[in-house]
Amino acid sequence: MSDVALEDLGCPLDCPRSDETILTGRDLINGLPGTFTIVRCRTCGLMRTNPRPTPGSMGFFYPDDYGPYLGTQVQTTAPRRKLFASLRKAARKLFEFNTTRLPKLPAGRMLEVGCASGAFLHEMAAKGWQVEGIEFSPKAAAAARALGHPVHAGSLETAPAPAEPFDLIVGWMVLEHLHDPVLALKKLNAWMKPGGWLVLSVPNAGAFEAKVFRDSWYALHLPNHLYHYSKKTVRLVLSAAGWELEKIHFQRVLFDPIASFGNVLRKTGMSRLGTRLTTFPEQPGYWRYALYPAAVVAAALGQTGRMTIWARKAA
Ligand SMILES: [Zn+2]
Repeated sequence: MSDVALEDLGCPLDCPRSDETILTGRDLINGLPGTFTIVRCRTCGLMRTNPRPTPGSMGFFYPDDYGPYLGTQVQTTAPRRKLFASLRKAARKLFEFNTTRLPKLPAGRMLEVGCASGAFLHEMAAKGWQVEGIEFSPKAAAAARALGHPVHAGSLETAPAPAEPFDLIVGWMVLEHLHDPVLALKKLNAWMKPGGWLVLSVPNAGAFEAKVFRDSWYALHLPNHLYHYSKKTVRLVLSAAGWELEKIHFQRVLFDPIASFGNVLRKTGMSRLGTRLTTFPEQPGYWRYALYPAAVVAAALGQTGRMTIWARKAA
């Protein structure tokens, strides 16, 4: 840990420096060393991990087998049971597990920030979109490029401006990983056509589950998550970068509380069952249907742990 450089920064909304400590936690996903503190800006309420790994040292916390890189690899083998696969697809539509919910738009130019191994780029290209990606992991970027899509391997900060502006920019569980979200969102704003849509998903640190599980909350993901947004603070950050928040969908999923409970069990020594529960968000299987009614209620109350945000370039 001693060789991982840390930095201590103020609120990115340029508030006067006045923070309260919320909690201290560890990397519970990859099990890498270090203790990290989350603070809340007393002026605007935005929570951030501080001190935090620098942009240069952060790579240490993204091993090649980091979950999201693997989960977005496109399976090239055809499913054996086609009927079963199409039934499952229909059920997914009906139950709205889709965490990639988009406004209804005609196909145009789309950028995905943090496209990982390219599954979503591939899906949108098949629907007629002209797609481009940005991906920090060279290995994941190569996988996305092998599918035939142009992908900038590197950070959003180093990505060159596109040849033409975009109609749609998406980022699935990306914003909370960025060192300078205001700067990044300003850059994306400049790349956008007038009236274009920005669609992002982020964990909801304002949810009941976050308050109950605290440092065991699965979506806390320290130290990779540098900011911990709520409905209120994500609006502030977007607005500081020239975006108007149009809509927030609280996703109808309750996978994170199950995994968080797994983290609690691991701490009390029940490591086998605990570890099994922590893999739940990646493989919920039929349990997702059992949890759905409760998830609908929690989402209606704005209390699920993941939100999808629709924003447009402010006029
Ligand atoms: Zn602030």
